[in-house]
Amino acid sequence: MAIVKLTRPKLNAGENIYFASLIKGFFLTMKHAVASLRNRTRGAKDMASSGMGITMQYPEQRWDEHMPEHYRGAPTLVTDEQGRERCVSCQLCEFICPPKAIRIVPGEIPSADPWAKVEKRPQEFDIDMIRCIYCGMCEEVCPEQAIYLRKDYLISALSRAEMVHDKKKLYEIGGVREGLVNKWNEIK
Ligand code: SF4
Ligand code: SF4
Repeated sequence: MAIVKLTRPKLNAGENIYFASLIKGFFLTMKHAVASLRNRTRGAKDMASSGMGITMQYPEQRWDEHMPEHYRGAPTLVTDEQGRERCVSCQLCEFICPPKAIRIVPGEIPSADPWAKVEKRPQEFDIDMIRCIYCGMCEEVCPEQAIYLRKDYLISALSRAEMVHDKKKLYEIGGVREGLVNKWNEIK
């Protein structure tokens, strides 16, 4: 195999002290500073910003109304329009979840129940929001369109235990998902 020897190009005095790069960087910073003062920064109008175009005064100002449709927030469970749990406890999401944030205890639906033919629904369903990395794989893998990532992003608590969302909390955040599920469309 032929060996190619490369010679390092010689820098002139100006290049050695990075003078050109310093000047370039200075003008770029000035350009952004002036744009910011004139409220002409990119996205300034879309963002509920301070009026200066750059800084959002959180928590008084928030992204909420500006979240894109495809934003991946907290994973949640959803019911259908008749209040039925869509989840059938197949545990695929538990299996696929990379950080093992999901824990499911499947439960049998009693034979007297009108939906007994579905056979199973979760007895317990926990998502540990400290572990969750918001990857969306649970949503992708679910055959029943029962688990969705909502736009909720303010997930905080005073203890680790509170950061584990149980079934009740997951349905509370998730709510109802009506009609045909559109997880394979362009957005979700
Ligand atoms: S979003 Fe990803 S990390 Fe979070 S629960 Fe779903 S699969 Fe697990
Ligand atoms: S949420 Fe979906 S993938 Fe997870 S156990 Fe329920 S039906 Fe299966």
